[in-house]
Parts: sequence; C-alpha cells; structure tokens
Amino acid sequence: KSAELPSADWLLGELSKGNRAALSRALTLVESKSQKHRKVAEELIHKALPLSGNSVRIGITGVPGVGKSTFIEAFGTYLTSIGKKVAVLAIDPSSTKNRGSILGDKTRMNELSQNEMAFIRPSPSAGSLGGVARKTRESILLCEAAGYDVIIVETVGVGQSETAVKSMVDFFMLLMLAGAGDELQGIKRGIMEMADLLIINKADGNNARNAKRASGEYKRALHLFPANDNEWIPRVSVASAIEKTGMSDAWEVITEFENQQKNKGYFKTTRQEQALKWFEESIGELLLEKFNRNPEAQENLQQLKEKVRSEKLEPFNAANQAVDFLFKTTS
Ligand code: GDP
Repeated sequence: KSAELPSADWLLGELSKGNRAALSRALTLVESKSQKHRKVAEELIHKALPLSGNSVRIGITGVPGVGKSTFIEAFGTYLTSIGKKVAVLAIDPSSTKNRGSILGDKTRMNELSQNEMAFIRPSPSAGSLGGVARKTRESILLCEAAGYDVIIVETVGVGQSETAVKSMVDFFMLLMLAGAGDELQGIKRGIMEMADLLIINKADGNNARNAKRASGEYKRALHLFPANDNEWIPRVSVASAIEKTGMSDAWEVITEFENQQKNKGYFKTTRQEQALKWFEESIGELLLEKFNRNPEAQENLQQLKEKVRSEKLEPFNAANQAVDFLFKTTS
C-alpha cells in the first residue's frame, strides 16, 4: 500500500500546477488517522507554507435552512465569473457525532461542483471539533498553495463551530432571514457579534420588502454592539441566493474590508494572532493526545480526577501532578 502513497514533493508539484485530483488526495492525507499519511501531510503542509496565504478566507454561517448552500453556489459562481478560483470547505460539528451530517448529505452546489474554477470539499467527518478545525485549517493552506483566491469555510449556525471558524478566516459572514416578530431571534447574539457582514437572504418575491425592513433593524442593532478591535464596522445587506442577487454587493463589502484592513495593517496582524492562538490550542490538544496514548498516565489521571472530585486535591495542583507524571512516563 505504501507504494501508492504519493510523496510530499510530488503532491506539492501537482498542487502548484492546480491539479484538483492531487489536491483531493492531499486533503485526504490531512484528514487521515494513519500516522504514515499524517507524516506526508505534515511534510506537505510545511513545504506548501511559502505558497500559501494569498487568498481571502471567508467564513459563512447561518441556521439550517437559511440558504447557505444555495448562497455559496450563487456566490461562488459569481466569483468564478469575475476570474476568481474558489475553494469551499466545511466544518460540520454534527457529523462528528453521528455520520448524518447537516452539511454533507444533500446534493449540494451542483453547478459549482462542476465548475473548473471551483473546488468543493465536504466536512471531515470524524474527530473532535478541535481535530476537525485543525484539518480545515491545514486544508485552507493547501487550497491556497493550489492557487485558490477565495476560500470559503462553511459552518452551521448552531453555536459550536463558529468560534473555530472565526479564528481561521479573515472575514465572517452570517446569513439570516427576515423573521416575523423579533428580528433578533433564532441566532445567538454572540454569533452576531462575530459577523463582519450580515446578509438577509431570501430577499425575493413577497419577502423582499420584509428583508429590506429587517436589514434596517439589524443595522440599528449592530450599532449597539461594542466596536471591533480592527475598527471595522459590520455591514448589513440583502440577497436572494435563488435569484442570484446581492452577490456583487457582498463581494464589494469583502473587497472594501480587505483593502481597509491591509491599509491599516490589521490584515496581517489578525492572521498572526490567529496562528499564535492555534499554536497554543494545539499544545493543549497534543498533550491530551499524549495522555490518551499513555495508559499509565491515563490511570494516574483517573486517580487524580477522583481526588479532585472528592475535594482532596485542588484542580490546579492535580493538573500539575498529571502533567509531571506524563512527562516522567513519556519518552
Ligand atoms: P442551508 O441549510 O442553510 O444550506 O440551506 P439551503 O441552501 O439548503 O436552502 C434551504 C431552502 O431554502 C431550500 O429549499 C432553498 O431552495 C431555499 N432557499 C435558499 N435560498 C433562497 C432564496 O434566496 N430565496 C428563496 N425563496 N428560497 C431560498
């Protein structure tokens, strides 16, 4: 089998030629649980790093049914029509528990998936949110090395994976609907506060006027939120994913954001801060992984947990002992 395993150098060469099949294979290695595959993936990511970073990374979220896949189909198609290569990745927390994923099952984005300028990858379907997020982050780098100009990371607006997505993208978009009654219902306020652009989707037919009105109400609501560190003032716009309207408006906002953030110097520093945050989180994850692979340390961990539970030991003290023990028993 190992004879079939492509080398990192070969993959990198194919990626830089824009070979989509090679990109798919590379992402499969990134997602693989096999140590051998991971090794190739890590080497590839390391070598691809100088080729990466030249894209706009966009997160898109919204509750199921709001029209995310329809929107991404329309938006992605629009972007390819103005010459952009578009990659679509997904983080779907539901698929990590049961295989029935919210984002993966439907026949989605038919048109876009046949577009030569586009690359669509469903969510990796196993592991913790942290694990899935790491794979998606690495996938972003490889898509960039393969020459994609816009990377879209899609997630379901149910509150678990948004923070992870926010911390790997430059621009965060929230799709909403014009609701009857309280316009702010149905989506957690914390998620709204993360958005750089709120898009009221399904602004068509009888709903067009409601959407316009809702957009005014959201604009006022956003004013009440604390200002962003990067000085960006969130925007609100309307769209109809089905009628494919509002796509150039959304892209204009993103372009304006990119220009403004680059001029002010935030674009780079935000990415640097994101990288540092991931570095720190990865240390925590690697430690946990080491605990999981070390039966002795695990047993010690269980005993310490019992002591914490029965209040014989303080949590911090116990953590200290657990890590000390891990280091002593790990070569
Ligand atoms: P997702 O669950 O957020 O990915 O939502 P989908 O893209 O699957 O859309 C959910 C439903 O809303 C589908 O029946 C779509 O056809 C419909 N839909 C999506 N966008 C629009 C829109 O702009 N206008 C209208 N009228 N329906 C839409």
